[in-house]
Amino acid sequence: MFSSKEEFKKTFTDRIESKGTEKSLELAHEILWEMTNDWIQESWKRTNQLYEENHEKQLYYISIEFLIGRVLGQNLINLNFYNLVKEGLDELGIELSEIEELEIEPGLGNGGLGRLAACFMDSLASLELPGHGYGLRYRGGLFTQHFVNGNQTEQPTNWIKDKNNVDTRREDLAVDIPYYGEVQLVMGLDGMRTKIENPEWVKAVPYDIPIVGANGGTVNTLRLWQAEVSNRSSSVGKEYAVYERETAHITDRLYPDDSLETGKILRLKQQYLLCSASLQNIISNHKSSLEKLPESIAIQINDTHPALAVPELMRILIDDFSWDWERAWDVTTRTISYTNHTILEEAMEKWDSHLIQSLLPRIFLIIEEIDRRFKESLQNQGKDDETLRKLSIIEDGVIKMAVLAVVGSYRVNGVAKLHTEILKKREMKELNEQFPNKFHNKTNGITHRRWLIKANQELSGLVTEAIGSQWMKEPERLSELHYFSQNQSFLQNFQEIKSLKKEQLIHHLQRDQNIIVDPSSIFDIHIKRFHGYKRQLMNILHIQMLYDRIKRDSTYRPYPRTFFFGGKAAPSYHFAKQVIKMINTVATKVNNDPLARQHLHIVFVENYNVTQAEYLIPAADVSEQISTASKEASGTGNMKFMMNGALTIGTFDGANVEIFEQVGQENAFVFGMRAEQVMDYEKNHSYNPKEIIESDVEIEKLMEELVKGDWTEGKANADFIVGQLLHEGDPYFVLKDLQSYAKAHEKILDAYENPIKWAEMGVENIAASGIFSSDRTIQQYSDDVWHLTKVPSIY
Ligand SMILES: *Cc1c(COP(=O)(O)O)cnc(C)c1O
Repeated sequence: MFSSKEEFKKTFTDRIESKGTEKSLELAHEILWEMTNDWIQESWKRTNQLYEENHEKQLYYISIEFLIGRVLGQNLINLNFYNLVKEGLDELGIELSEIEELEIEPGLGNGGLGRLAACFMDSLASLELPGHGYGLRYRGGLFTQHFVNGNQTEQPTNWIKDKNNVDTRREDLAVDIPYYGEVQLVMGLDGMRTKIENPEWVKAVPYDIPIVGANGGTVNTLRLWQAEVSNRSSSVGKEYAVYERETAHITDRLYPDDSLETGKILRLKQQYLLCSASLQNIISNHKSSLEKLPESIAIQINDTHPALAVPELMRILIDDFSWDWERAWDVTTRTISYTNHTILEEAMEKWDSHLIQSLLPRIFLIIEEIDRRFKESLQNQGKDDETLRKLSIIEDGVIKMAVLAVVGSYRVNGVAKLHTEILKKREMKELNEQFPNKFHNKTNGITHRRWLIKANQELSGLVTEAIGSQWMKEPERLSELHYFSQNQSFLQNFQEIKSLKKEQLIHHLQRDQNIIVDPSSIFDIHIKRFHGYKRQLMNILHIQMLYDRIKRDSTYRPYPRTFFFGGKAAPSYHFAKQVIKMINTVATKVNNDPLARQHLHIVFVENYNVTQAEYLIPAADVSEQISTASKEASGTGNMKFMMNGALTIGTFDGANVEIFEQVGQENAFVFGMRAEQVMDYEKNHSYNPKEIIESDVEIEKLMEELVKGDWTEGKANADFIVGQLLHEGDPYFVLKDLQSYAKAHEKILDAYENPIKWAEMGVENIAASGIFSSDRTIQQYSDDVWHLTKVPSIY
């Protein structure tokens, strides 16, 4: 693109002039985008050529979400052009960060699962591995969140613009997807074939996003499908306008509200479109014999949303290529592998048989046959009825997608050691016994190129000054920072950078939400999706306890803390929305109290997304990772904070366990029940929150205030929260862990009194964080599951 700053400036200004329009930040953005893209296109073409010539094994990662965040700045970082461009623009009087602010991030994910997929894409390309993504192009993405009277409101995120879009339409690769219709046997040249008669066809059109790896050499592809009307659909049994509208809806939003039947159908349509379009595309790209499929490609399904890939691949091999069942099953189950992301009962995907039967009749027959054959083999092995029931794919008219995914895959992984153990020993015990070598662990990771090199360029620079730049290629070398945790000038620099990142966050919040924050306060940050098990409720109840104590005890004047919250609630998740409302109500009360305000400040950051995370995480002193033990499969937010030198207050849950193991419990604030205890309580139904309330005066008082409505606006909100804690039996053990949590917070205040020691602990966290780079995760997947070969970019 350009080998020097002067060359960049010249090309940039030439291009601006040639547009002949008025100069503006928007124009600067457009030009910089074009210039970056020109460069990427070349590498992209070269990478694709290399893959074709070398016939290397390709990985396809299918995921219903890809939460990629803003693209321009990250591409400049990975191309190693960021600093050159920044300085060049500076000299032209333009701020690169202002240009970056113009980009609306595509909200193609809800949270951790989608962000993981995005981190994996970055690591695959950076490790020069041939791995690509398949996803959906939701026009309105995940909703944009605003608060009105403290309540969440939801608007579509309009991330698709007229020009400079991140993706390129590939009309030439469009495929048709059949819904509904009747399954019929027809006579073909090579015997009987199954065919779907009179389906409703929908066209899936791919849009490609280049995934630029470190140093810009390898550029892989993220391919997103968009639903459109098909010209084969002349015979649809409904009015054309209805068909048109329904088709446009399919990729309109991420996770349409599935509490309604129409929402469910829409979601199933999304899942099938993703699987069918991706597999049709994979198979048509596959040039050699299909017998060799497992040697030349690997398909990873991210959670069960793409589990229909199993019957769809079977359908293609049997119906389109006239294979017999055994051969098709052998190839399918050596091609697909599956990642499990949750053990929460309500999140285990299940579909009504009738729904699948009517929308996807052929797929339903294949699932039935998979189930029948599997059950038959189990019966032949003499399994008892209870085991048979647990292992069945179809049970009482319901299709269990997790079982389908396990049976149809050659490897199945959990996403942190604890989670994998729970899967193997409890949730999927019978499946693990049936397939003893299938289950394995791959602890999640995050790309240090976004979460440290890009989000915290200042800290990244300091690290490089101390230990050289090799850690960027080999993040586990961050461990060399250990020697600097005793180096006073390093610690001081670290503290200064933390203050700078706080100032940048403050500036951002002031601009975005007109909120003023005290930069000298402790930044205590709890950002993630709103969910019962993530226990935002426990955090806010603790703040209420602190408030009460400040009011009651004139000797209690704790060091000022700012408690940040951020996160969205699923539109149909009533409880999560009530907690959001309550936090906003408590915030108004605490923030407007002249005495409490000197010690406590609550900030609820609107519309939490990747961009907000990039501002918040580098500024954090304290990372809140307080899920009910056993419920958080891994968590990845926890890793991002650690890598930025924040200290974790957390339970023994998900990847927290491994974080504590790496950094040492003396460099974290661990509290609360263990997973075993929680699961025992659940099994025996032996937890009674009333006992806690009766035996603890502080909690008793808190509950009385809640009942009186001191902390809520309107009776409905109070009733709901109290109802959850008392009448619903406090399912996430909030009251049970509350005092242990409060004690951990007291330890935080004690530790913060010694700023040098605090900084030392922060540096130990960074030093121990390298193993949580997704480069490590991807290398492990490649070694143990995909068996990919590096394709060095010739560039
Ligand atoms: C990392 C990330 C998440 C996942 O956070 P957890 O704390 O692991 O739940 C969710 N949303 C965004 C925007 C993220 O960047």
